[in-house]
Amino acid sequence: MLLDGKIALVTGGSRGIGRAIALRLAGEGAKVAVNYAGNQTAAEEVKAIIEQHGGAAMIVQTDVSDSTEMVARVHEELGGLDILVNNAGITRDTLLLRMKDEDFDAVINTNLKGIYACTKAAAKFMTKQRSGRIVNLSSVVGEIGNVGQTNYAAAKAGVIGFSKAAAKEFASRNVTVNVVAPGFIDTDMTAVLKDSIREKLIEEVPLGALGKPEHVADAVLF
Ligand code: NAP
Repeated sequence: MLLDGKIALVTGGSRGIGRAIALRLAGEGAKVAVNYAGNQTAAEEVKAIIEQHGGAAMIVQTDVSDSTEMVARVHEELGGLDILVNNAGITRDTLLLRMKDEDFDAVINTNLKGIYACTKAAAKFMTKQRSGRIVNLSSVVGEIGNVGQTNYAAAKAGVIGFSKAAAKEFASRNVTVNVVAPGFIDTDMTAVLKDSIREKLIEEVPLGALGKPEHVADAVLF
């Protein structure tokens, strides 16, 4: 298996894309720490599926934007850290002129500051051991923008710049930092969109369908 003996932390691993990533990495032999914000039942389900298939997993509740302890805890409990997937993310969609400061701050804190905090904590271990793989989830919205998502687009564009800079800082220590920027994927995040918006999005996709979380998980595994 590709990841035999490796240890991975997937933020927001309880649902959607993060869940698919956690299962994919575990399917290739990695021990996986499944981080979640509030949905313990969903996180426990992911852990149970991994264990049913003979793998090893732990769950870890932490808000990624305030997560100084989490990486060290995972490192200690699982005995190391080779892979960090910064996947946790939220939306607070509304037009800019109606956006509340707290909607802007919440999205920046979770989607960008969370990546900063977890990457910084993980890089301390990874640069020391001179190996590591960090994969950050951005979005096409960070590249092309989207009505009602100035906060989200700013955070996701920020993830790309952050990752390019971190990649340059850590490359000499054999720690890579990469971004996966999916199009629209069928998860709870897109399920809340109005039918009319969903249909419009699908029209823009040449294949005529939303992507599946498993497609993104394959890219992250690569
Ligand atoms: P989702 O179905 O809404 O799941 C979000 C996950 O993030 C959940 O596991 C949630 O935990 C966790 N989470 C949210 N806030 C958190 C916090 N502060 N600390 C820790 N965990 C937190 O979302 P998704 O669609 O799978 O999206 C996953 C990532 O892909 C996000 O970064 C998103 O921006 C990005 N993305 C999504 C799409 C798409 O179309 N779906 C497209 C491009 C990029 P709980 O279960 O505990 O709430």
